[in-house]
Amino acid sequence: MPNIFNQHSESDLDSNPKYTGRFAPSPSGQLHFGSLVTALASYLDAKHHNGKWLVRMEDIDEPRCISGTDTAILHTLEAHGLQWDGEVMYQSKQHSRYQEVVNALLHHQQAYYCSCTRRMIKAMGGTYNGHCRDKGLTPSNGQLAIRLKLDTPLAPFTDLIMGEVGVPHQKLAGHRVEEAHRIEDITIKRRDQLFSYNLVVVLDDVFQGVTHVIRGCDLIDVTPLHRCVHQSLGYQPLEYGHIPVAAIAPGRKLSKQNHATPIECTTALKNLVNALHFLGFTEVKQQDFNSVDSLLSFAVSLWNRKKVVKTPEIIVPRHESTYYSVP
Ligand SMILES: [Zn+2]
Repeated sequence: MPNIFNQHSESDLDSNPKYTGRFAPSPSGQLHFGSLVTALASYLDAKHHNGKWLVRMEDIDEPRCISGTDTAILHTLEAHGLQWDGEVMYQSKQHSRYQEVVNALLHHQQAYYCSCTRRMIKAMGGTYNGHCRDKGLTPSNGQLAIRLKLDTPLAPFTDLIMGEVGVPHQKLAGHRVEEAHRIEDITIKRRDQLFSYNLVVVLDDVFQGVTHVIRGCDLIDVTPLHRCVHQSLGYQPLEYGHIPVAAIAPGRKLSKQNHATPIECTTALKNLVNALHFLGFTEVKQQDFNSVDSLLSFAVSLWNRKKVVKTPEIIVPRHESTYYSVP
């Protein structure tokens, strides 16, 4: 399908087209060890490949965002020597661009209004079955959600770090084999008028001209869907690499909800060394470096995707000043 939106990847920079990476924190809390690991891995992978490294604030879910947290996050990145290229992008400032895309999709009948309630979808067996696809509903039928027609099946992909990744099994439940990789038409704009994460994450990467995404394994299952959305919007899927997630216990990702402590800028060198060890670069010794910049330039040359630990999550010890503290 041709790119119908006439939106060339307009990165604000004259970019080296081969590699643009990004780090996309949500300003709902300060950076903790887990987010530092993701920032560092995406930075090192970009810089090792002479690419650009961008930052964007995933502040679409505005009620959860805390004023001033974006500034604190940027300050922490700078204190750790993780200097981004170009301007920081804010999702909250992209609404009109998202709406333009949604309008174009509606216009080309690639998206449609849906009036199904959560209860109706539950009655369908939990997976939306395309009930409103051909009903021709319009906004005059009330406050409706908008769904994207997805006809491309989910496909396995080769992860830059984890290798071959299959389609997540939970999507297969209850479907015949030939139907197995079909997916439901996802909501792109909710009834309450919020754009859905699965749409904006794909569009933001397009808007910023991102080519490579390095992120935590907690998102690996949704990557086939993101690749599928890219494709159905007429864009080439990106390259994805997933790194282990820091957790306080199996299945409990380090997060603000799980008592993660904000990382201290005063111990930046130590934090970076810990993050490198976490990723598998255990030969790095803090005493060999006197600044974050010298450590980072060494780490950029040392970076090797093959050396990154290939487990989806790693349990970190309880340690107040580094990882988390339970009140
Ligand atoms: Zn519907």
